[in-house]
Amino acid sequence: MNSITSFETLDKAIRLAGGKPTVLEALWDGDTSGWYLYLNIHVIIKKLFTIKKEVKYLGTISVGGDIRLFNGTVPPWPEAELAKEWGKMANEKYGLMFYFPSDKEPDSDCPGWEQRHLAIQCADCAKMVIPTNSPYLPKEICYGCHLKRKFNDKIKNAEPYDDGINMYMVKNEEYNHIGYSSSFDGLPIAVFIDDIVQARREKGLVDIVTIDEPDISIIKEKIEQAIDEKVAIYKSAEFPPDFPEKFKSNIKRHTVEYNGNKFELIERLNEEHSKIDRLVRALEMVDKAISGNYSFKIFFKNGFTYRDDAVLRFVHFAGNGSSSLASIVQQYTVILTETEVRDTVLKMEKAGCLTLDGEIVQTTDVTKKLL
Ligand SMILES: [Zn+2]
Repeated sequence: MNSITSFETLDKAIRLAGGKPTVLEALWDGDTSGWYLYLNIHVIIKKLFTIKKEVKYLGTISVGGDIRLFNGTVPPWPEAELAKEWGKMANEKYGLMFYFPSDKEPDSDCPGWEQRHLAIQCADCAKMVIPTNSPYLPKEICYGCHLKRKFNDKIKNAEPYDDGINMYMVKNEEYNHIGYSSSFDGLPIAVFIDDIVQARREKGLVDIVTIDEPDISIIKEKIEQAIDEKVAIYKSAEFPPDFPEKFKSNIKRHTVEYNGNKFELIERLNEEHSKIDRLVRALEMVDKAISGNYSFKIFFKNGFTYRDDAVLRFVHFAGNGSSSLASIVQQYTVILTETEVRDTVLKMEKAGCLTLDGEIVQTTDVTKKLL
């Protein structure tokens, strides 16, 4: 794959294509490592008695997925920004048309320059797309807008949504975040605290379960028992004789200590080693709680909906903890009525997540720990 990394590399590829360039097109495609843009040039080649149109592939613009994964925010799609900049430069230099049907986000359903007549305009975002032939998808909108509509429907219909459990190590007002999981079972320590947690859940809208002594010491015993069972059958991982030398450095190892014994663990590739690793970490956490006089607090949602979640997130993130009722209504206009917004705010006030003072809505400390 030819990489386009600057306007100069693009310009060189255009010149190598030959002929008179008329249209430069940028289209999205994706593979397992993520989305990329590929660029084609439409040229007219004049010979003595003939005029021929040709389309030539120039190369791809790919910034790679890593940057986005680490940012963890809304993808800025730097490829699109680069393509727009270079497309403009190519337009100025050659007078060609720069055709980029999805310049805001990746979409592989957009028509190429010569398929434009087959396309429709998305009813929601006005982008040109080739209509889907799937019987399960709407024909009048693009896939991105379809997902947006589905999500908005969940908000509109107030579908249940209690996902997201946060765990903290707590002393007085000091909260240390030690774990997040979409469900309780996903917490590494869940299996050791399940009975305590189930017995103490009050099933209020926000459930905060506190675990302190003597329960933490009992949990510690259970974890130690589980580690004892695992290390009794511990086997160190040796490379098989035919393991390729060049891959050996890719295999990461680290050593953990338990009861004065050291165990070398392979990262990720060995299920038994991973279990020991998780248990030893859980034990460290529990030891830290015991020696520092900390309790554990686990925050559960109970009876939340997508609508509650959306309103909470809007006030917390977009409004930085404070917002007027009117701006929430404005944000969810078309999806929710003013009454529905007010009812949601009142429900979240009852849950201890929002306060309503006149028209001003604010998040509480509970919200910060819950989201
Ligand atoms: Zn759309």
